[in-house]
This record gives sequence, structure tokens and C-alpha cells, in this order.
Amino acid sequence: MNSPVIPINRIGILGGGQLARMMALAGIPLGLQFRFLDPAADACAAPLGELLQTGFDDVATAAALGQSVEVATYDFENVPAATAAAVLQHCPLYPGVAALQQCQDRLVEKRLLQELDIAVPPFRAVDTRADLLGAMAQLGYPAVLKTRRLGYDGKGQAILRQPEDLERAWQKLGGSGLILEAFVPFEAECSLVAVRSRDGDVRAWPLTRNVHDKGVLVLSHPGNLGSALQAEAEQVVQRLLLHFDYVGVMTVEFFIKGGRLLVNEIAPRVHNSGHWTIDGAVTSQFENHLRAICGMPLGSTIQQQPSLMFNWLGNLPDRQALLAHSGLHWHDYGKQPRAGRKLGHATLTAAIEGELQQSATALARQLGGHWPQLLQQLFS
Ligand code: AMP
Repeated sequence: MNSPVIPINRIGILGGGQLARMMALAGIPLGLQFRFLDPAADACAAPLGELLQTGFDDVATAAALGQSVEVATYDFENVPAATAAAVLQHCPLYPGVAALQQCQDRLVEKRLLQELDIAVPPFRAVDTRADLLGAMAQLGYPAVLKTRRLGYDGKGQAILRQPEDLERAWQKLGGSGLILEAFVPFEAECSLVAVRSRDGDVRAWPLTRNVHDKGVLVLSHPGNLGSALQAEAEQVVQRLLLHFDYVGVMTVEFFIKGGRLLVNEIAPRVHNSGHWTIDGAVTSQFENHLRAICGMPLGSTIQQQPSLMFNWLGNLPDRQALLAHSGLHWHDYGKQPRAGRKLGHATLTAAIEGELQQSATALARQLGGHWPQLLQQLFS
């Protein structure tokens, strides 16, 4: 006999940023209530639930959060281990602590990928100047030096193109544990967002092609990379999901090189490159993440219509003018503008791919600046 299902209504989220906000926007129609832990008084998820305003290292409040909800999750991967442990004393935390901890450290993550026989760019651990010189001699120029921990969106990294770059990179990053990676002259970047339920059901959305600007995602376009790459990506993610006995959404970012995939990084959470699923897929990444962690059946990950996401960094474009585009879906995170900050996104949808590309080209022209050129990278 199946054990009785205990209804889950209250969700705790470590982090109250835009990912937590979009989870809540997806979960409220499911009848879920949200409680967020975040140090910012103006955390943008706060209007959708209750905010426990405190530091991420406040284990007593993390324990209280765990006590007051039936299941917990997180919207960023740098949750301190002690905070995760405090929550776990009182309720399940998904995705689990093993995935959370291993994905916090680029070196541990790359070693795991190698153990699982998953292709990654050549890399070396770097702790001292001598390590850096030795690693450069082996990997050659160009290479990318990155902090092992706390780096994201291109932060905490430096490209080494010639010997003169070494000292500057060491001055900028030396002192903490580092990893040196060979620079990958990729044809394109893409990511796979997938979800695994508590009982092992796995679904993946279509592979999404991504364009970054200075290390930050600016455009995502799903569904055009072909079935061979989709199958290759799904195999990689399936192996990782099983390894961790994972529950929830996982995202894997890839470089496409010589028509094959190399993993750049794993995010144990919903991801910016999956935002298009809100408007373009049967079930969004946010809803399926919640369904997974609550033990509900997963929804379909089929893409319903051609879609393309534009990310708004630093300031929002003119809403009035952009809403005049048919098929434009506006998402304002309710955050104060600040240089480089992710403030919102818009997803364009259309009935057919040709129409989507026309409409995206018109939008990029209207936005001006670097947008036409970024879009060209996506369609090249
Ligand atoms: P990350 O923070 O590691 O995801 O890096 C941000 C972006 O920097 C990636 O999306 C790539 O565009 C670029 N990048 C990172 N690592 C490499 C690499 N080894 N080779 C080439 N480009 C890289």
C-alpha cells in the first residue's frame, strides 16, 4: 500500500531574489505559501510571502524557517553548509546538500564531472604562483583563471591571453583557491534545464542557446539546436541527477565545440536561461521545481511556441513602448536599478520561428545599443 501523502502547503526559500519571486508567482496558484530568508529588507520576493530578514549565516533563524514550513529550497547556490544543516534538522531541503556543496566549488564540480566521464575543458587547481606558472605551461594561452568559490556571472575570473596578463590576474584573484581552465573557442553556448521528481521521474526542456555579454546572460533562445545535441545534453544531466539522487530543477551550462558539448558549470537550481519556460512551455521551470520538491506529479516540459528571452540589466527599457510588440511578455522583478543588476526580462513568443526572428530583430533595433549585434550572435 502507498504511504499516505502529507499535503505540503508551506515552502521555505533560502534567498529572496528574482528566482524566489518567480517560484512564488508559480506556486501561489498551486495553493502554496512562501517564507523567504534574505538579508535585504527590500528582497524582491518579499511581497509574495513572509520575509525573515537576516544574514544567510544566521543558523537560528534558518532553523526557525525549517520548523515553520513543510519543505525548503534555495534560490542561489552559495548557501552556507551550517545554514543548510540547520534547515534540514526540521524539514527536507531540496535539491540536497551534496549537490549544493559540490556545485559551490568549481574544482570539486569539475573533478566530479570527470569522474562521471562527462566532458569538461582541460583544467588545473591553482593555489600558489608556482601552481599558476606550472598550469599555464601545461594548458597554454589563452586560459581563464577563476575563483573556485563565490564566482558567478563572469565575476571572480580573468582571461590570460599573454604572459603580461599573469601578474594582473594574480593580483586580482590570488589568495583564494583558484582553478585555471583552458579557454574554449566555442561555436556557441547553451544550457539544459531539467527536473527530477521525488520518485525519480525526469523531464527536460529543450536545449536553450545563450548569448552572454561580459559574462552575464543576455539572450536565450530554446529549441533550435537539434535532436543529437539534445540527446547528448540529456544524457549528461541524467547522469548527474542520478548521482545526486536529485530532487528539483538542475541546470547545466555547456560550450558547443566541434559540434559536441563540454560542461562549463552546473547550477543546482532554477536558472536565468529557463525563464522563457514561463511563457513558452506547457509547464515552467518554477512550477515544476515546486511540484518536484512537494512530491507532486511533474508537468509537461514541451515547448509550446517559438520563444526568445531578453534580459534587462541595470535599467528597464520603456515598458509602454515594448508592450506594443505583439507576443511580448513583460517580467519586472520590482528591484531598484543598479549598474549590471538583473532587473527583469521579456520573452517574445510567436506562432512560427520566422515570425519570432523578425519580431526579435525589430525589438533589438528599437532597443538599440549592442542589442542588434548580440541578436546576430544568436542567429549566426
Ligand atoms: P561562468 O561564470 O564560469 O559561467 O562564466 C561566464 C561566461 O564566461 C561563460 O558563459 C562564457 O561565456 C565565459 N567563459 C567562462 N569560462 C570559459 C572558458 N573556459 N572558455 C571560454 N569562455 C569561458
